[in-house]
Amino acid sequence: MAETGATSVTPDERCAIGITFGNSYSSIACTVDDNAVVIANEDGDRQIPTILSYVDGEEYTGNQAKAFLVRNANNTVTSFRDFLGQEFKSIDPTHCHAAAHPKDVDGGVSFTIQDNVEGEPSTVSVSEISTRYLRRLITSASDYLGKKVTSAVLTVPTNFSEKQREALIKATTAAGIEVLQLINEPTAAVLAYDARPEAVVEDKTIVVADLGGSRSDVAVVASRGGLYTILATAHDYEFGGASLDKVLMDHFAKEFMKKNKDVDPRENARSLAKLKAESEAAKKALSIGTNASFSVESLAEGIDFQSTINRLRYETIARKVFDGFNRLVEGVIKKAGLDVLDIDEVILSGGTAHTPRIASNFRSIFPATTAIQAPSTNPNAVNPSELLARGAALQASLIQEYETNDIEQSTHPAVTTVPHITNAIGVVSLGDDGEDIFTPVIAPETAVPVRRTVHVATPKEGGDVLVKIVEGNTHIKVTKPEAKPKENGTKDDDEDDSDDDDSEEEEEETREKVWKIGATLGEAAVRGVKKGSKVEVTINVAGDLGVTITSREVGGKGGIRGVVKAP
Ligand code: ATP
Ligand code: MG
Repeated sequence: MAETGATSVTPDERCAIGITFGNSYSSIACTVDDNAVVIANEDGDRQIPTILSYVDGEEYTGNQAKAFLVRNANNTVTSFRDFLGQEFKSIDPTHCHAAAHPKDVDGGVSFTIQDNVEGEPSTVSVSEISTRYLRRLITSASDYLGKKVTSAVLTVPTNFSEKQREALIKATTAAGIEVLQLINEPTAAVLAYDARPEAVVEDKTIVVADLGGSRSDVAVVASRGGLYTILATAHDYEFGGASLDKVLMDHFAKEFMKKNKDVDPRENARSLAKLKAESEAAKKALSIGTNASFSVESLAEGIDFQSTINRLRYETIARKVFDGFNRLVEGVIKKAGLDVLDIDEVILSGGTAHTPRIASNFRSIFPATTAIQAPSTNPNAVNPSELLARGAALQASLIQEYETNDIEQSTHPAVTTVPHITNAIGVVSLGDDGEDIFTPVIAPETAVPVRRTVHVATPKEGGDVLVKIVEGNTHIKVTKPEAKPKENGTKDDDEDDSDDDDSEEEEEETREKVWKIGATLGEAAVRGVKKGSKVEVTINVAGDLGVTITSREVGGKGGIRGVVKAP
């Protein structure tokens, strides 16, 4: 694990916040009476564009800097977060196309910008750019809180390498901030949901779909007894908010060309920047309303342009991108070895998650029992743009009282991948129809060590009780609708041609999750159980995955202990 916090701050001097530092937007959050609150910067923005721009030696950030992409693109730095800790040869500079270009300096990434009033332009490393940007975020937070922020928890994508994590810590520390911890983005999202006062923390399997601007990250998270285990992750750099902007840019550019003798606003840098800014605004408007206007003064060759687009049209032209999100989510569930039926909840995070169509597409992929947490499907959903910063702020408030050295040990297991069992562990009992029934006691993917106790049914009259502890896993049982007997066999051929007649037979197959009994871990006979008494079974899985089972009559003496060695 990377070293954290070179700045030494004692726990009582600390003023800690949560930061999510994205390629497109960043947010800062603090906690007030245990509630996470996202802080607005001096422009009133809570989603602060991750951009720095230099004009006449003056540094601009956020939306002010973003506006300079039109007439000061060369001195405006965008989409740089992912370059931290990376070699120049392995970066994808696509998203910097219309801004300062990354360049190779000693194998690392730098930008050449005119950041002074006079003199030669400076070449600034991505680390230094990040430090400058983070300093601005911290200043905004300190101004809001009325005291100096000293420390922070930052969120990072799950596939951030150790080098990238180290580089982020270095850049933050250089901004005068003690890094309490880096936490994985999907974990921050789950944390933000679980911390709501109305939340019921229960064992569940969650998909976090974090749909940003330049990348989309998905993860399957098992939440067991308040511990989170990341089961699988997947990342996509092709489908994100920027690709939706592109769809709209192409749409409006073509419309402009039709009206204006084939003048293409995409061929001129300034026109392109205006086209992009207005397309993003129209896209956001379409998340709330069913219509959006598009209006740019002097879009190209001095020609003003006005148009509108409705949501239906947008959803049609953006379908390829939306389908990409579906595939990404379906893929990560498969990667985790699970089925959509195993997923209890889908948390939509990131700016693009505001898009109603994406949430309704997810709604149709998952069974009705899966909760889809997005603003358009659940009025109580947390604002997806605020989730990560809130999660980071909550984590910051939880750990800020620890001594720096203790933070690593004391808080790591709660927020990163930990050892866990794969299959469920439970008891087998005999059903009414003589078939074995599996009742899970410990859910699959539960972090270890773990101990759970259950009471097992006993015969009414008492007597001997056989307890069988087994592993269980789920599989999906598909039931095809029964083919209806044809009333008149000879008419078969005719009927095949008619869609209407067949419609009843196209009833969908049903899919349900059923338990399959796996390896037996232990059997115990508890003898002479009193009438009306109960048998208590305790299953204990140690940190090395060794299982100990204890069975005894409640109130009875002794008990039977069985041990299954760690695999
Ligand atoms: P990345 O690192 O992937 O570039 P990020 O994590 O920095 O992105 P987010 O704020 O999660 O940024 O997502 C930014 C994207 O979300 C942008 O493409 C932005 O246009 C889009 N977005 C923000 N708000 C909305 C909205 N209301 N409706 C649709 N899209 C939105
Ligand atoms: Mg993001």
